[in-house]
Amino acid sequence: MIDSTIREKYEPVIGLEVHAQLLTATKAFCSCATSFGAPPNSHTCPICLGHPGTLPVLNENLVRYIVRMGLATNCSIRERSIFARKNYFYPDLPKGYQISQYETPICHDGWVDIEMPGTKDEVGPLKRIGVTRIHMEEDTGQSIHDFGSETMLDLNRCGTPLIEIVSEPDMRSSEEAYQYFMGIRSLVTYLGISDGNMEEASLRCDANVSVRLKGAPKFGQKTEVKNMNSFRNVQRAIEAEIERQILLIEAGEPVLHQSMLFDANKGVTRVMRTKEEAHDYRYFPEPDLLPVTITEAFKSEVRSELPELQRARRDRFVKQLALPLYDAGVLTADKLVADYFELALASLDKLTPEAAKAISNYIMGDVMRIMSEKHKSITEIGLKPEHLAELVGLIQNKTITNKIAKDLFAELLYADKSPKEIVKERGLVQVTDTDAIRTIVRGVIEQNPDNLAKYKAGKTTLLGFFVGQAMKASQGKANPEVVNELIKEELEKA
Ligand code: ADP
Ligand code: ZN
Ligand code: MG
Repeated sequence: MIDSTIREKYEPVIGLEVHAQLLTATKAFCSCATSFGAPPNSHTCPICLGHPGTLPVLNENLVRYIVRMGLATNCSIRERSIFARKNYFYPDLPKGYQISQYETPICHDGWVDIEMPGTKDEVGPLKRIGVTRIHMEEDTGQSIHDFGSETMLDLNRCGTPLIEIVSEPDMRSSEEAYQYFMGIRSLVTYLGISDGNMEEASLRCDANVSVRLKGAPKFGQKTEVKNMNSFRNVQRAIEAEIERQILLIEAGEPVLHQSMLFDANKGVTRVMRTKEEAHDYRYFPEPDLLPVTITEAFKSEVRSELPELQRARRDRFVKQLALPLYDAGVLTADKLVADYFELALASLDKLTPEAAKAISNYIMGDVMRIMSEKHKSITEIGLKPEHLAELVGLIQNKTITNKIAKDLFAELLYADKSPKEIVKERGLVQVTDTDAIRTIVRGVIEQNPDNLAKYKAGKTTLLGFFVGQAMKASQGKANPEVVNELIKEELEKA
């Protein structure tokens, strides 16, 4: 750890380059499927394998998606932009070049406002981060090195459409970089253009990092940190790189223009390669593709399709449903969760703030616990939103106890029936009838004379024991408040 007085002398400067894989059904320039996890090399054709004589054909959805992102990040959209070939040799790049954009990125000079963490009840301050450019490109294949001395190639990913979002060097801490990256993830998922999944590498990030003495007029020499495979690791890697650079400067050594790899286990960055000179990719205009022209009509069509984004939705939940800011933030962080929540609300007979809060509590508790235990998204856990709403309704109108609801919840993840159907079939309706509960309570007291004696002798903590036994005897169906009351009554009498 670096001494904090030394750390305080420096100001970090950070710019991010984010790649997002687009959710188009087919690849950028051919009709091969883009789906993840197919058998190696099964989604390939002469075009994406780069056979001579084949011609690329631009996927229109690629243009639609990038314009969506450009408009959502306040970019100018170029009327006419061209593709360029980025030439280099690598085994997973059969054509010998990537189709990309160079001098004329389709979107440029925009910004995003990121929100820094606030308190539980108040949103944090906004900070504006410039977006230099967003351009289209195609992905490469993958070299897989886990076969002993051999390397295998999977070219399924070759030609998958990507956008690259390059930020201005506007971030001044690893926390800001983290919030910016999360903000980009939120944007691409809310816009429906990428699943934003880092584990499957559909979202990737390189961080450009430099430090300078506070107040210094010029930026310091930057390095580029790669290989960060989780959101938190992006922040950790940048923090580690900031410290490494400060220690170098403090020791009187220069920071070199290098690519760094983050070692997540050790929490340090290591030199991957030194960039003596800039890569010479020999970019030149792609002769096989026409320029892309964006009309005003197309732009306004895309603009009219722009959905409500995360912060707007969160604030609407607070206003319309009277949810606490914190809860609304948790529910909207993941678009799928927010969609699910709204589907559950839509299935209610009557939408009240109480019902909204109860459904929200269930999602933030049991539903999210199951999601993280099973590493599944909310749409994959097997619980329909209308069933969750029904379950919460049954608790609220006291048809079932919380205990029964817990069991029912676990069952609903597998069952194909609605909560009401299961409750009816199995007679799980809550027992509030005092006479029936009194019989159970008396039985429990009779069966436990020893504990009754101890209770009478002053061990009042045994109350909980009797309540537990009575609930068990009722198979969880007895109304707990009635049980509590009657146990006290009957123990007095016994
Ligand atoms: P390069 O010439 O290495 O491609 P660019 O100027 O194109 O550099 O910027 C690439 C990325 O690096 C951008 O995200 C930009 O914001 C960021 N960047 C540029 N200069 C610095 C710096 N001194 N410190 C940190 N980040 C920087
Ligand atoms: Zn193909
Ligand atoms: Mg550059």
